Amino acid sequence: MESIKHFIAANGHQVQLWVFILLFIFIWNVENLAGVLFNYKKWKHAFSNAPFIVTSIPGQLLLGLAFIKTIEWTTQHQFGILYLLPKNTNPVWVFIASFILLDLGEYGYHVVMHKVKRLWMFHAVHHSDNVVDVSTTLREHPGENIVRMSFTLLWVFITGTAFWMLMLRQIIQAITTLFAHMNYRFSDSADKLISLLFITPNLHQVHHHYKQPYTDCNYGDVLSIWDRMFGTLKRLPAEQLVFGVDTYMDKNETRNFYSLVKLPFGKYRKIKADEENTTSTILK
Ligand SMILES: [Zn+2]
Ligand SMILES: [Zn+2]
Repeated sequence: MESIKHFIAANGHQVQLWVFILLFIFIWNVENLAGVLFNYKKWKHAFSNAPFIVTSIPGQLLLGLAFIKTIEWTTQHQFGILYLLPKNTNPVWVFIASFILLDLGEYGYHVVMHKVKRLWMFHAVHHSDNVVDVSTTLREHPGENIVRMSFTLLWVFITGTAFWMLMLRQIIQAITTLFAHMNYRFSDSADKLISLLFITPNLHQVHHHYKQPYTDCNYGDVLSIWDRMFGTLKRLPAEQLVFGVDTYMDKNETRNFYSLVKLPFGKYRKIKADEENTTSTILK
């Protein structure tokens, strides 16, 4: 176990990067074979999202060192919720506890990004994609990137998450985020089963529907349990889904990198309610 922890702590960043690249290529091909959306130019769409890879780098460099210093401090002072567990707890259980706590943090973060007007403007860049496929995963405003990492940093501090646990969580998160944005739908029966625990493409696609109350649902990151617990889980039949945000449907705005970077600094636009689709199923 010690050698696994050491390996993940030392090589987590490289593993995460390679998992992301290889899975991206794999999902890209699955989408070509079994995708549900075909009426768009896949390469053109991917190129409109690709610049966000570059703009995410400053945030990662800025906060990367902060993560190391924070975790050094919490480890040295045995500070954080996870240190309340008995000292002889199996590290696997400590990791599961940290994973669940970090996932709850991501759920809370996502709700805040939707409810605070100015933060929503940053997050709307991700939502404004009028096609959802694997490259939508890349589409995050650099401002949101910094807010998200700062939020994770605070939550890592509060929970006392060890470095190897954070790295392992991020590798799993890279897999599930790509998976959730896949241009693919499970059959209803398979989805019901998988979504008992995990956020599936079917659930995340509803989160990308262009009108309320669907935009404000299925906030979960890896696990779907928080949406069940807090009553934010919704379903919408595939044929009723329209991707995007109703206040940002102009492709000149949502396909142009410069317009997207400026978007959060513009005037707040409120998303309207979807009056046609009132048949959502709220699952308990
Ligand atoms: Zn969202
Ligand atoms: Zn998304």
